[in-house]
Amino acid sequence: MKGQRSKLRSSLIAARFMPLPIVAIIGRPNVGKSTIVNRLANCQDAIVHDEPGITRDRTYRPAYWGEHEYQVVDTGGLVFDDETEFLPMIREQAMAALAEASAAIFVVDGKVGLTGGDEAIASWLRLQRVPVVLAVNKCESENTGLTQAADFWQLGLGEPFPVSGIHGNGTGELLDQLVTHLPTEVLPEVEETKVAIIGRPNVGKSSLLNAFLGENRAIVSPISGTTRDAIDTIVQRGDNTYRLIDTAGIRKKKNVEYGAEFFGINRAFKAIRRADVVLLVIDAIDGVTDQDQKLADRISQEGRACIIVINKWDAVEDKESDTIYEYEKEARSRLYFLDWAEMIFVSAVTGQRVEKTIELVDKASSEHKRRVATAVINEVIEEATSWHSAPVTRQGKQGKIYYGTQVRSEPPTIALFVNDPKRFTENYRRYMESQFRKHLGFTGTPMRLLWRGKKVRESEQSSTNRALRVK
Ligand code: GDP
Ligand code: GDP
Repeated sequence: MKGQRSKLRSSLIAARFMPLPIVAIIGRPNVGKSTIVNRLANCQDAIVHDEPGITRDRTYRPAYWGEHEYQVVDTGGLVFDDETEFLPMIREQAMAALAEASAAIFVVDGKVGLTGGDEAIASWLRLQRVPVVLAVNKCESENTGLTQAADFWQLGLGEPFPVSGIHGNGTGELLDQLVTHLPTEVLPEVEETKVAIIGRPNVGKSSLLNAFLGENRAIVSPISGTTRDAIDTIVQRGDNTYRLIDTAGIRKKKNVEYGAEFFGINRAFKAIRRADVVLLVIDAIDGVTDQDQKLADRISQEGRACIIVINKWDAVEDKESDTIYEYEKEARSRLYFLDWAEMIFVSAVTGQRVEKTIELVDKASSEHKRRVATAVINEVIEEATSWHSAPVTRQGKQGKIYYGTQVRSEPPTIALFVNDPKRFTENYRRYMESQFRKHLGFTGTPMRLLWRGKKVRESEQSSTNRALRVK
């Protein structure tokens, strides 16, 4: 059971990352493959695919260069039995990685020089239909690096790029070459907004679903969900298609007896993961509970768009002109994880503001997907840093933001390339985030900032200037 769950989990994560092209890192042991992977990958969020028959799990890590996003997969060392034959299991591992890769980086050791092992890998690689970029690692010195690298022309894999995984030099040129082999992003043709309706039992999830369907008589079909944890309903409204993920329906349909305490939080978590937009339904009479806070936290962590739906507003008695305002203030203080989400007061029973809720779904969904031009992002950075310059450490070192670019959407993610992330305090990071919010909007969706330390060397200075000049 547990194994099944973790398999589902990893395949769901994989599905989310699947559209990103894969770059396989190939080479003998000890040439510096892991060092290079660590340099290319954004952070520690490795995704491990567990597949039977493969000795070592392959580890996929998200990475990007300029506008290109990809995943790097380290294949483990390619070893030879007697300098002529691959160890079958490890070869299988590398083959599997290569089979799904858009490109490979073949790493060799510039200090050791060309070896028979490299030649064997190269002839094997030439038989694969994958473009290869050749990295001659451990070339710390710019001058001797080129000489060290020159030897590897013999491999017949094109230009050898001298790099140092440890110091980072040369990786810019290597990546410029690499990304020419990566496919550009392709968006799916049929856009379907996946909306999860979640909340505690009896808050009115099923009633809301029915109210939505009532507003939109052109129901396509109720279909059984892709998992046994929810029932999906496809709804067409104008030009938009929605997949409503209903976690409550299953409980009713199967007529299973659950205790009053039964909450089904795992089911809710799974629905959140599948959704683009989450409707977090709260019972107006009960107010925000601890369980609602757990769900809110998860929505934000998963990076999903969200609308806070306060249902049963009809049942709140003696409403006065400022009741909504007071209620919202109180609810928001308990849902601070979702300070970017819109809150709406509805009644599934009377239909009050149900139509408006659908409009909010459309708005949140498009903000979740929105991409902002690099020039605009850099204008915000310039404006923000001129009002409030980056902090100076006790040692007198000042943080500097070279430039920023949106590297991802769903949720919008902006990478800031800085001299040293450690120089940016939590306070300053929050300030930058609030500035992006203020100027870019993104209402209804979480957004992320990645602070990337990046030594800008002379060779890369030109591309940084290029990026800044886009303005
Ligand atoms: P892998 O087995 O191919 O993944 O290699 P590792 O990344 O584990 O590195 C093997 C050894 O080479 C380690 O001792 C690293 O410190 C060293 N190494 C990796 N990259 C460089 C580099 O750019 N320059 C130098 N001088 N040593 C490196
Ligand atoms: P679920 O368990 O979250 O799917 O909740 P249901 O949709 O089954 O609703 C639970 C109870 O709350 C039912 O008795 C509904 O009639 C009632 N209810 C749902 N929405 C509203 C509403 O907007 N106003 C009022 N007064 N009652 C509601």
